[in-house]
Amino acid sequence: MNTTSIKRRQLLLAGAGTLGMAAWPAANAAKPRKQVIVIGGGMAGATLAKYLRLWGDRINVTLIERAPRYTSCIMSSLVLTGQRQIADLRYSYAQLKKVYGVNVVTDDVLAVDPATLSVQLASGTTLFADRIVFAPGIDFDPVPGLTNPDAMPHAWKAGPQTTLLRQQLQAMAPNGVAVLTIPKVPYRCPPGPYERACLLADWLKKNKPQAKLLVLDANPDFVTEKDNFSQAFFGLHADVIEYRTQTEVLSADAATMTLQTTTGSVHGDVINLIPRQRCAPIVSQTGLANATEGRFAGVDVLSYESTVAAGIHVIGDSSATTQPKAGHIANQEAKVCADAIVRSFGGYAVDPAPVTNSACFSTITMKEASWLEAVFQYDPATRVMVPVANATGASVGWSGNNFDQMETWFKALMADTFA
Ligand SMILES: Cc1cc2nc3c(=O)[nH]c(=O)nc-3n(C[C@H](O)[C@H](O)[C@H](O)COP(=O)(O)OP(=O)(O)OC[C@H]3O[C@@H](n4cnc5c(N)ncnc54)[C@H](O)[C@@H]3O)c2cc1C
Repeated sequence: MNTTSIKRRQLLLAGAGTLGMAAWPAANAAKPRKQVIVIGGGMAGATLAKYLRLWGDRINVTLIERAPRYTSCIMSSLVLTGQRQIADLRYSYAQLKKVYGVNVVTDDVLAVDPATLSVQLASGTTLFADRIVFAPGIDFDPVPGLTNPDAMPHAWKAGPQTTLLRQQLQAMAPNGVAVLTIPKVPYRCPPGPYERACLLADWLKKNKPQAKLLVLDANPDFVTEKDNFSQAFFGLHADVIEYRTQTEVLSADAATMTLQTTTGSVHGDVINLIPRQRCAPIVSQTGLANATEGRFAGVDVLSYESTVAAGIHVIGDSSATTQPKAGHIANQEAKVCADAIVRSFGGYAVDPAPVTNSACFSTITMKEASWLEAVFQYDPATRVMVPVANATGASVGWSGNNFDQMETWFKALMADTFA
């Protein structure tokens, strides 16, 4: 392999002339610049890169992302109903480069060596850093029997599968049966499958009034926002949705469009199969997946440093914390992590009492939404983030006004992450 090794000193030279380098006062000129490599430019990684450059003094940030543009999962279920296009959910890295001086590299990280804090890229380059932050999102468990995942798309990473699922739903017979499967927790976006089910039920009523939606939940009950979702499933959408709990997918047969589940065999004309989830492969390959039965990476939530590898941090959906796997939380974790890295480079202790928050809007119909909010604070006794009781809760019911506010919230979150 044509491997080019860029030593720290060379990276240091590569950083010269960036916006950050020019901006720091001359008194700092002798102080060596620190190198941080961020793996994954999604909700967590993009925020981290931006805030490290905003808050840090003489820190070079290299963000490695395999896709030239980010596609937001948030709002992507609205693509299924034709209310959004996938192209509307794309975000560029131009602002991170231009405004914040992040070195954005379009490449795939193939391997990371925790001992030397080095990162090997698919292009053949090896980069070295003072800190490496993993923010690569999730991966899916393989589904036995499903050789072509497009036959039963998850559409749980926004992109081609989202558009494909939209096409499959449009092509479904007027009296067809669509199936949506919900994996065991923890998975990305706890209310996401339930809000997708509500949205699809409303769309089916308007477009295929004889069709049904069968929701197979591997969990014993709604995993979040039970009041609103049970009212929607058993009230508003009761004529469309059939809800089965404790029903886990065991295998799938695309030829007959059949699922074998823990409660029997199920046929669907369209199957939105959302498999069980784990951290992205690069996290487990690096030996960091030591929590949640080896599915996610254990971290110290004061800094998001791995509990097994010094100098390596894991943020966003790949990490195992008591907070939900959500884009808003990924953005918050990134800020706590950035602050901890900046303090550590400066020789200061990390913030001993971080607070994070999350807001989430769930579409109950194509024009109405409910909301869920949570504030988490560090509990020194248990060393985990715990919900603050009087700042955590859900709306009573849903409204068109909430749907409008969802747009405002989304724009603000994406601007804070990418602009
Ligand atoms: C349908 C749906 C609706 C959702 N709605 C909401 C919502 O309303 N509110 C909310 O807060 N959250 C929502 N979420 C959850 C949210 O999208 C995720 O929690 C969030 O994207 C996690 O951020 P992340 O940075 O960990 O991962 P991602 O955003 O997935 O980013 C990971 C990035 O890493 C890159 N990557 C991975 N491996 C490598 C590698 N080896 N080399 C280079 N690059 C790599 C990927 O290409 C990707 O761009 C929703 C999710 C879905 C599926």
